[in-house]
Amino acid sequence: MKMVEAAGSLFPPPQPVGDDKFHDHCGVFAVCGHPEAAKLTYLGLYALQHRGQESAGIAVSDGEQLSCHKGMGHVAEIFTPEILQQLTGRLAIGHTRYSTAGDTDLRNAQPLIVSCQKGPVALAHNGNLVNAPAIRRDLESRGAIFQTTSDTEVIQHYFARSKQAGTPEALADALDRVEGAYSLVALFKEAVYAIRDPRGFRPLCLGKLGDAWVVASETCAFDLIGATYEREVEPGELAILEGRGITSLRFAPAHPSQCIFEHVYFSRPDSVIFGRSVQASREMLGRLLAREHPAEADMVVPVPDSGVAAAIGFAEEARLPLRFGLIRNHYVGRTFIEPSQRIRDFGVRLKLNPVRSLLRGRRIVLVDDSIIRGTTSRKIVGIVREAGAREVHVRISCPPTISPCFYGIDTPTRRELIAATQSVEEIRQFIGADSLGYLSIEALRQAVGDTDGRYCLACYTANYPTRVQEPLIAARNRE
Ligand code: SF4
Repeated sequence: MKMVEAAGSLFPPPQPVGDDKFHDHCGVFAVCGHPEAAKLTYLGLYALQHRGQESAGIAVSDGEQLSCHKGMGHVAEIFTPEILQQLTGRLAIGHTRYSTAGDTDLRNAQPLIVSCQKGPVALAHNGNLVNAPAIRRDLESRGAIFQTTSDTEVIQHYFARSKQAGTPEALADALDRVEGAYSLVALFKEAVYAIRDPRGFRPLCLGKLGDAWVVASETCAFDLIGATYEREVEPGELAILEGRGITSLRFAPAHPSQCIFEHVYFSRPDSVIFGRSVQASREMLGRLLAREHPAEADMVVPVPDSGVAAAIGFAEEARLPLRFGLIRNHYVGRTFIEPSQRIRDFGVRLKLNPVRSLLRGRRIVLVDDSIIRGTTSRKIVGIVREAGAREVHVRISCPPTISPCFYGIDTPTRRELIAATQSVEEIRQFIGADSLGYLSIEALRQAVGDTDGRYCLACYTANYPTRVQEPLIAARNRE
């Protein structure tokens, strides 16, 4: 009997197991003053894996020189004990990436490391620069050569070209020319810099581990290594971490526009972001949602995992039982081989399976954190109905998403966002729910304690907090 040589001859090609959620972006981590800096950075990145699964890298300094290892895939696959052993030094920075600007390949994996007249420097960046394409065109027209398609490289170009002799001054000079979102960690031979843009779009936290300083996108990374959270790097702050301790400089006045979606969806619930517990914010989102959009129902069911905390708040406020009527398979990769016989909504079914005994004959409040294109929500409502639910009332713990993000979140174009063109009633009909309720903007702000306009709300209002948006908006709308 002849053996079949390739699985591909039996099955159709692997299909993307996509959903229509926002995708994660990047995570950064840094250590200053610890003999196991690379190993701690590895663990920090491991805790930040949810912020990017495409590539990861660690750069270290032993005081004399910088070295770096990067790879495609997950942190635990890229770094073996042997590789970590070779990354010696007391200073390290790390990055885990989901591409929002630049192509998907190893060239764009970070940290980006260069040598210039100011010495070697490695950068790891979370966020997107809104003026990077224009800067790049300008620099290229004057002979600059770029090694990557990542917008982070424009900062290195400006840093290398700065006429300022001092490192902090040259960095401040470079940052003065870029606009947008950047939470950065920079590694030099004898120091780590932690920098947050003046709007503070993305989080960046400072912690201590004994005498060592640690920096992370989210505090959940501190918990894993036993570090204590000290404070946020402030918007517009450049914190220099070196042997002597920490020096805090201001390179620009703060105009905070922190990303509210970090609280709604991106950050882990066990993190403290922008000085607030993410879990507490999400539970409050659910409570306020229950007040604004109550439902006659038998139970509250979260869409796991992102809807869980809001569903807890909703159920408590509505005095309804919370039941896990949808079970998530956590082991699904980005692609999967489908059976030849087509199964409806296969991608969503791979991830979520209904608990029929819980749902049958019941009136369900289904709580999720967002509706993007509407296609996934429609499939989930269909799965819950097929499992026997009598009524499905969908409740969303944020306002309708009407505009794309330009600050480091991989959103679809405006045209693809269902709420950009459809009314709530039209969306309800499309997803097949008995009722649909979104949280109001006022309640969203209340849930995160935003009394003074410190948050960016642009994906719900289309009011962007930075300029140079018009060409980008036009480009996104044309896509
Ligand atoms: S546009 Fe939305 S996702 Fe982007 S930074 Fe603002 S609130 Fe966050």
